[in-house]
Amino acid sequence: MKPHGYTRPTEVAAAVALLAGRPDAKALAGGTNLVDLMKLGVERPGLLVDIARLPLDRVEETPQGGLLIGANVRNSDLADHPLVRERHPVVSRAVLAGASGQLRNAATTGGNLLQRTRCLYFQDVSKPCNKRLPGSGCPARTGVHRDLGVLGTSEHCVATHPSDLAVALVAVDAVLHLTGPAGDRTMPLTAFHRLPGSTPDRETELGPAELVTAVELPPPPAGARSVYRKVRERASFAFATCSLAALLTLRDGRVETVRLAFGALAPRPWRALTAEAALLGEPFTAAAVGAAMDAELAAARPLPDNAFKVALARRLAVRELGLLATGQEQR
Ligand SMILES: Cc1cc2nc3c(=O)[nH]c(=O)nc-3n(C[C@H](O)[C@H](O)[C@H](O)COP(=O)(O)OP(=O)(O)OC[C@H]3O[C@@H](n4cnc5c(N)ncnc54)[C@H](O)[C@@H]3O)c2cc1C
Ligand code: SF4
Repeated sequence: MKPHGYTRPTEVAAAVALLAGRPDAKALAGGTNLVDLMKLGVERPGLLVDIARLPLDRVEETPQGGLLIGANVRNSDLADHPLVRERHPVVSRAVLAGASGQLRNAATTGGNLLQRTRCLYFQDVSKPCNKRLPGSGCPARTGVHRDLGVLGTSEHCVATHPSDLAVALVAVDAVLHLTGPAGDRTMPLTAFHRLPGSTPDRETELGPAELVTAVELPPPPAGARSVYRKVRERASFAFATCSLAALLTLRDGRVETVRLAFGALAPRPWRALTAEAALLGEPFTAAAVGAAMDAELAAARPLPDNAFKVALARRLAVRELGLLATGQEQR
């Protein structure tokens, strides 16, 4: 690991100033992703700004009836929080579907959203990778890409975003709170993760020296049922092959509210807006969900070894929305 400095500020403004003062500085939260990547030589910060002591570790109610989750709230605490479990069970379930208990005890809300892709070539500095080294190439396209993306990818990068939490947060219309040298701002989480285009090294809209301070969850739609379903190679401790966060309400058999977000299909948590628009206001049937997913997935550009994900996503949506519609969803 490259030698680096270490500092542990206790105020947000001080952390931002430290990050702004050193272009090679990096925020350290739980360290469960960043330190691993430092050991591999993928990340090489000259200074670690440990943000664990910043006062960003609380879940609070907002005056609008939403929840404000501090960026340093640990994944375990987020999943267990009574208000999160009551109002946003899909968020709680998504967190519990990720990593292991030990990792969730260390990993934070902000760090989870900013974790890097699990593409094997990205993690291996002996291999080319446009995301790690712009212009060096993308060996995944002709190499190992079974777990990589089918939607929103480009010829320059087909990596997926690995977070389970981010998928659920996109489905509940979460808003990020950010702070940086230019002050505070907010942004819908759907706008935060970038598609790769020709610059896969630019993964998010996070500005230089900017920190995520909180994630805001608006009140859930009245009466919505929700589910987080993660398909993976084994029952625990594995990243998703495809995952789905879904919310649904019906009125007189028609779709009144539907939110669909997929994980492991794309470089960002994928909100299926085309499918949602096709279903909204229509009579709910399995055939309608299938047709809506066909419209959504028409944009898919699978590679030889991950074409199965297209059929998997369609089946996942038909099955899980069907169970939600009849109140039989698994928890
Ligand atoms: C074996 C293993 C299995 C895993 N399985 C899963 C899984 O199934 N599903 C899943 O979702 N995740 C999984 N993870 C990933 C794990 O959830 C992430 O490593 C973790 O959430 C990252 O959080 P952290 O606080 O440790 O972040 P760190 O490692 O400290 O930081 C990660 C990145 O975020 C940046 N950062 C952190 N906080 C902020 C902030 N507030 N503002 C701006 N930048 C910030 C850091 O600079 C760094 O670039 C797994 C990890 C491991 C090691
Ligand atoms: S898919 Fe993206 S992360 Fe993986 S090798 Fe290609 S450029 Fe790198």
